[in-house]
Amino acid sequence: MINLILFGPPGSGKGTQADTLVERYGLLHISTGDLFRYNLKNNTPLGAEAKTYIDKGELVPDSITINMLRQKVEENPDVKGYIFDGFPRTIAQSEALDQLLESHGGAVDLLLMLDVPDAEITQRLMKRAETSGRKDDQDPEIIKNRLVVYKEETYPVFEYYLAKAVKVWGVGTLAAVQSRLSLELDRIAE
Ligand code: ADP
Repeated sequence: MINLILFGPPGSGKGTQADTLVERYGLLHISTGDLFRYNLKNNTPLGAEAKTYIDKGELVPDSITINMLRQKVEENPDVKGYIFDGFPRTIAQSEALDQLLESHGGAVDLLLMLDVPDAEITQRLMKRAETSGRKDDQDPEIIKNRLVVYKEETYPVFEYYLAKAVKVWGVGTLAAVQSRLSLELDRIAE
């Protein structure tokens, strides 16, 4: 069982890299951002509730996010492990994740942080806006807010898991970043 947190600022490439790691290590990729967008698209009550926060670049309240995450984990108990992408994003979410994994006899094994400078992040998100159709990518003010929220509420999660955390340089080709991540994952996967 491997429980990996893929961490980093918005636009750091977590989703893209997770897709490749999933194939390589047979893990289940759980992205809270994707789960919210799925609910938005399908007009569920959860989607409607989350929309007001997402469109402003704010975090969806912990209670909603934690319940959604827990449900996804419990629906998929027979996997080799999980890649958590975009979760946990607050200390309360980290504590909830620890409790959830502990109740299944597990724990977070590794946090890999994709290290990407702010200027590069802003550029990537503006470029993604051209194709993603994501409202929260369109407006520079909303992007700025997401970066502020990341620094204030989410970065502390890195410190919370410091003993299990490794920073990986997130700039370069997709393959270069992938091999830096795999190198770290191989150390614990053996
Ligand atoms: P990105 O990492 O590119 O900002 P995500 O797809 O991970 O985008 O998330 C999009 C939005 O969904 C976030 O800005 C936030 O509003 C909401 N969201 C995703 N994950 C969480 C979470 N763990 N806690 C609270 N809100 C979340």
